[in-house]
Amino acid sequence: MDGKRPHKKHFHEEYHERHHEKHSEENNDNDKNKEELVYNLEKCVFCGICGEICKKGAIVVDQINRTWDLTKSLCVKCGHCIRKCKVGALEFT
Ligand code: SF4
Ligand code: SF4
Repeated sequence: MDGKRPHKKHFHEEYHERHHEKHSEENNDNDKNKEELVYNLEKCVFCGICGEICKKGAIVVDQINRTWDLTKSLCVKCGHCIRKCKVGALEFT
């Protein structure tokens, strides 16, 4: 009997820890939502790779007119474009 009590207490502690973890995850998600993809006009060479890699079609690069455009509502913040940009023109802020 005595052996079960500490175990039960431990279960409760674990429950609270899990609850706390869930809260932390939610907070992290909120932080992620604040991040925004930004591009550096001075670094960009308009290669178009980021536009090709983005499966959401959030980035449109016009290589002829040298323009870069992001549709924020389509971006899921996966970061693929950032990793593929060879000149480091993209980042989350
Ligand atoms: S991959 Fe980088 S350099 Fe190329 S168009 Fe995109 S932001 Fe510009
Ligand atoms: S972070 Fe992902 S979804 Fe957003 S523009 Fe880059 S590749 Fe597309």
